[in-house]
Amino acid sequence: MMGDRKKKVVILGSTGSIGINALEVIHRFRDRFEVLGLTAHDNHKLLAQQCREFSPKYAAISHSRIADLKLALTGRKIKVLDANCDLPFLSALPDVDIVIVAMSGRAALEPFLSAASAGKQIAPANKEALVIAGEMITMAARKSGSRIIPVDSEQSAIFQCLEGQNKKELKKIYLTASGGALYNVPAKKFDSLTIDDILKHPRWKMGKKITVDSATMMNKGFEIIEAQRLFDVDVKQIEVVIHPQAIIHSMVSFRDGSVLAQLGVTDMRLPIQYALTYPQRWSSGLDDLDFAALAQLTFAKPDLKKFPCLDLALYVASQGGTLPAVLNAADEEAVQAFLLGQIYFTQIFKVVNKVVLAHKIQKRINLKAIQDADLWARAQAQILIKRIT
Ligand code: NDP
Ligand code: MG
Repeated sequence: MMGDRKKKVVILGSTGSIGINALEVIHRFRDRFEVLGLTAHDNHKLLAQQCREFSPKYAAISHSRIADLKLALTGRKIKVLDANCDLPFLSALPDVDIVIVAMSGRAALEPFLSAASAGKQIAPANKEALVIAGEMITMAARKSGSRIIPVDSEQSAIFQCLEGQNKKELKKIYLTASGGALYNVPAKKFDSLTIDDILKHPRWKMGKKITVDSATMMNKGFEIIEAQRLFDVDVKQIEVVIHPQAIIHSMVSFRDGSVLAQLGVTDMRLPIQYALTYPQRWSSGLDDLDFAALAQLTFAKPDLKKFPCLDLALYVASQGGTLPAVLNAADEEAVQAFLLGQIYFTQIFKVVNKVVLAHKIQKRINLKAIQDADLWARAQAQILIKRIT
């Protein structure tokens, strides 16, 4: 038991793929967790439904949907907040024990930082905030005593493999990648694929943005930077390994040559639950791995020519400063334009690459420098996207 009192949880982005899975985990352990806050961007119907089921004290939605949400929750004692500005307040409320950062994109930055400064236990699935401002977040967490237990499956695996180990003896992190929807598709066919083809991920069912990032392998690039920040390692210590079965969620090696791996079914409820119950492990009800049925686990090197976004992210990871924020912002704009049918798949890389190469890196970062770099990169990306369309 984590103590007698129920842990009070806020889920930022409860209507998304991770958020829904997080509520399933909490539902399974309703006697141990209490939902204090739920938030969404636009999906007021699902948020209202979740509020009826879990009766949080707070629900937040973007400004334009507040009236819809209030109407749906008439007669209930739920305080409705504005997700455009109130999330840092919600994440830092004295009552909150755990903040699950399950919202997508840059918007998670301020509430994530706020939770870190307020000493909360944080379970981040969101990687964008860690990419943009990982140093600031981890520093704030160290100062306040906030514990960050990652939900992103690779980072959760690395975290688990490093538990009880001496970090000084760590040699390498092997970040595994399933390869995304295009692993077996020749590069010359990329632009003939429809958005639906790209959105079919072979292993994980996820939100649209991260599924496109998996297809370009930018997602793995973000995870390199995410791992750098979470585990305080040099980019040279991180190696991406293609592992199509996605059973090994990542590995670490030590200076004596030993390698530790974390394996499990491809189900996000597993890392979500671990981040909630850490340092304990509770029964999950998920299937055991059937090794005989799996028969084999395979590995390969990533093809950086076919997936130039990964190569670009490696460069960005080696530079640091404001460049990761630029990479993230340009990618958010380019992926959005792709999902709107404004640019072709391979143009995502072209847009992001141009913006990254045009940026004058500022090495010492603070929130203002990051916000400026973010805005600059979005404007640059939009100029390039408009030129294409
Ligand atoms: P989804 O697109 O499914 O969900 C996103 C959630 O964030 C929704 O609740 C959405 O609300 C909310 N949201 C989106 N934009 C904003 C905004 N501007 N302000 C406030 N809330 C917002 O994404 P996923 O659940 O797939 O991913 C969430 C995060 O987790 C991403 O950062 C992703 O990279 C990361 N991640 C996801 C994994 C997965 O398996 N899905 C695995 C590892 C990491 P609404 O529904 O109203 O639009
Ligand atoms: Mg991942």
